Amino acid sequence: MNTENPFSHIGGGKRYYTQNYMLREKFGCKVIKISLNAGMTCPNLDGTKGTGGCTYCSSGSGDFAGCPAQSVTEQFYAVKKLMNEKWSEGKYIPYFQANTNTYAPLEKIRSMTAKALSLPDVCGIAISTRPDCISEETADYLAELSRKTYLTVELGLQTVYDETAAKINRCHTYADFLAGYKLLHDRNINICVHLINGLPGETHEMMLESVRKMSELKLHSIKLHLLHIIKGTVMAEQYENGEFEAMTPEDYVNTVCDQLELLPPDVCIQRLTGDGNRETLIAPLWSLKKFVVMNEIDKELRRRNSWQGKKYGGQI
Ligand code: SF4
Repeated sequence: MNTENPFSHIGGGKRYYTQNYMLREKFGCKVIKISLNAGMTCPNLDGTKGTGGCTYCSSGSGDFAGCPAQSVTEQFYAVKKLMNEKWSEGKYIPYFQANTNTYAPLEKIRSMTAKALSLPDVCGIAISTRPDCISEETADYLAELSRKTYLTVELGLQTVYDETAAKINRCHTYADFLAGYKLLHDRNINICVHLINGLPGETHEMMLESVRKMSELKLHSIKLHLLHIIKGTVMAEQYENGEFEAMTPEDYVNTVCDQLELLPPDVCIQRLTGDGNRETLIAPLWSLKKFVVMNEIDKELRRRNSWQGKKYGGQI
């Protein structure tokens, strides 16, 4: 057990290693991620791995990414303009979010990243993808890119349990994830993993186990999402048929705090909940009040006198 809060110097009463803090330390200013849609597809949509996609997926899981009818440059400026209403200046990380951004010929990936790097005040790139869509060739290119800029590759895992992955039609296994992880890890590429809390059939203990397994790897960062049930998805039908229940806010806050305690203190926390879209979200509607959820997480950590890594047993 780690007995002293290592985050007491972080502002806002945060008891975990926030992305905002990490990026300010690294770049000396506010850094804003700009979500983009490079017009990729996904092997779980086009029939290569599966059809219909993950049961929770709406339009490639990039609801807040730009519009693919626009070029990367047009999307960048459009999203940047919106962001600048909140933060008038800073540096930017173009984030290829929608669909599977390494599922394309290498030339397309090269041109997408070269365009992003040529944009003004860009200090890095983030690329979201499936762990089963990284070839040796792509990994070699990502390693080259990583030597040039601050690169993070975001791998959608969601759960370490193959039975849950099968239920949600992920069409890859935990072993597939580990193979993709190894390709990146062996090349010293920053890896961020996405997990989803509240998947059908998963218990509290299973959600903690996914995080325990992640704490045994060498991750740069992690995103913990709350399962959003979105109109028009297979999962929405299952939910409406009463096949599973959405998480309650108390359960979610408790789960996230338990997970934070298990993570190494040097793993950056990029996300502790999702951004729901009011128009399309069916449940849980309480998650639309994101600031309330974030405040409750801070409050619960204070109440426990706990912090990220308090129960982490490994070496950092
Ligand atoms: S891997 Fe991502 S883009 Fe593909 S179906 Fe699943 S959630 Fe949608």
